[in-house]
Amino acid sequence: MIPSTYFIHPEDEKALAAMKAVPGFDALMKKIMELFYEKYLHGVNMGSNMRLSDAQDPRGYYRRVKRICGRLGLDCPEVYLETNPFPNAYTYGDTRVCMVLTSGLFDYLTDDEIDSVIAHECGHILCHHVLYHTMARTLLTGLSNFMKALAAPLVYPLYYWYRKSELSADRVATLLCGADSVARTQLRLAGGPKALAGEVDVDEWVKQAEEYENIRSGSVWDKFLQMLAVMNQDHPFAAVRVREARKWSQTEGFRIVSGLLDGRIAICPECHQVVEPGWAFCRHCGHRL
Ligand SMILES: [Zn+2]
Ligand SMILES: [Zn+2]
Repeated sequence: MIPSTYFIHPEDEKALAAMKAVPGFDALMKKIMELFYEKYLHGVNMGSNMRLSDAQDPRGYYRRVKRICGRLGLDCPEVYLETNPFPNAYTYGDTRVCMVLTSGLFDYLTDDEIDSVIAHECGHILCHHVLYHTMARTLLTGLSNFMKALAAPLVYPLYYWYRKSELSADRVATLLCGADSVARTQLRLAGGPKALAGEVDVDEWVKQAEEYENIRSGSVWDKFLQMLAVMNQDHPFAAVRVREARKWSQTEGFRIVSGLLDGRIAICPECHQVVEPGWAFCRHCGHRL
C-alpha cells in the first residue's frame, strides 16, 4: 500500500493535523464511531441497501471495486448499492469500513467515470479521512442553520478540511485513471445525463476551469464572493478539482507515486526514501539494494 504521505494534498494534511492536535478529540471520535455510528450505519445498510459480494454481483460492480482496491493494495471494504437517483458515493466507518454507491452513479456515468469515483473513495480510505468524514457529515447535516451559526468556529474549519480532503482523494483517482478522467467525471457530474457522454468536450471544460481560476484569484471582492460561495460546501467546486488534479499530474510528486504504484520506483527499506531503478546502493543512505 502506498503511504498517503506521498500524495496527500498539503492543505488537507495541515487541516487534518490541526484537528487531531486537539487533546482527546481523536480518541473521542473513534469511540463515538465504534460504539454508535459504525454500528448504526452498518445496520441501516444491511437492512435497506443491497450488499454486493462475489455471490451478489450484478453487472460486476463488486469486482470493479475489488480490482481498484487490489491495485492500491487496500483490503476491499463492504460495498452496498443504494437506490438513489443522485449519482454519489460515500465511505464510512473506522474499524469496519463500508462504501456505498448509489444507483444514480451507474445510471449517470460511464465505466471509466465510475472507476474514477471508486478510486476517489479509495483515496479517502488510504488517507484515513473516513472517521472524520463520517463525523463531519453527521454534524454538518444534523445541525440547523441557527446551530451552525452558533458553532461557526467548529463548523467552518470542518467544512474547510472536508473540501481539502476531497483534493487528496482526487489525487488517487488521478493516479489510477488519469487527470483527464477526473476532469471528464467532474464534467459529467456538473452538467448532463449519460446521453451527453459522447458529445462533451473535456478540453473546453478544462479551459472553463482555468477561467474560473481567474475569477477566484481576481480582485479582493471577487475572492471574497467566491469564498462566500463555498464556505457552506463540503466539496470544492468542480472547476477547482479539475485544475488541482491536472496541476498535480504534472509534478515530480505524481511521477514518483505513479512509479511506486506500477513498480518502476521503489522505497529504500533502510531510510524509506525513493530509489530509482538501476541503483545498486541507496544514494540517500548507502544501503545496498
Ligand atoms: Zn470524496
Ligand atoms: Zn536509503
